[in-house]
Amino acid sequence: MILFGSPGSGKGTQSKYLVEWLGIPQISTGDMLRDHMRRGTGMGRAVEGQMRAGSLVPDETVNALVAERIAQPDCKRGFILDGYPRTIRQAEAMMEMLAAAGSDEVVIHLAVDYNVIISRMAGRRVCVKCNTLYNAVTRPPKVEGICDNDGETLVVREDDREEVVRERLRQYEAQTKPLIEFFRKTSDRLVEVNASEERPEAIFGRIREALTGFDGFKAFRIAEVARS
Ligand code: ADP
Repeated sequence: MILFGSPGSGKGTQSKYLVEWLGIPQISTGDMLRDHMRRGTGMGRAVEGQMRAGSLVPDETVNALVAERIAQPDCKRGFILDGYPRTIRQAEAMMEMLAAAGSDEVVIHLAVDYNVIISRMAGRRVCVKCNTLYNAVTRPPKVEGICDNDGETLVVREDDREEVVRERLRQYEAQTKPLIEFFRKTSDRLVEVNASEERPEAIFGRIREALTGFDGFKAFRIAEVARS
């Protein structure tokens, strides 16, 4: 399952709902890259400058990260890609990986108005420990500044600063948005969801409705129920 949309479109939040609903893992290239930076690995050091500036890291780097991750046993039944692919070259690499694994894709496009994105990102906070995202308006924590899950402090992510946000949106327009056309051509399971100005639960309701309309998806859910 590919969650596709601009920064601030709610991919991270919807991923968490999908993980809970389907019991398949979320794969966020942003989280994986930040983890490398925190641990100070060779890759972390190599991408640090690009991440801080809000530009994309090289395709080879993220392609390799994703290839390694989806080979793990917990991805056997499916997985949610959040923030990948972001360029045509990544999308081509991903299609090859999925074909090799015998997996079918569903693409969910979260379409959001530009002004909504800017206001959402301004109120965004993240837990330093578990990466859960909060928003002052649409998804406030129970106690201000504190994560509901683990009581850790919430912070403004460094790449959510305004000038970085603008650069990330510029990158999205130039490199990522053209993927919508790519998916329209290559995938017959593209779902367009209007994700502007609504509560995240309502948007998730629309995603769930769209997904249950796919035959392959029904089979997946039936197998799920049979297992449990
Ligand atoms: P958001 O979820 O708000 O869109 P991410 O956490 O996904 O942001 O990404 C943060 C940064 O990580 C990006 O600005 C970019 O530098 C890097 N990054 C993440 N995923 C990719 C990718 N698929 N290709 C290139 N760079 C990426």
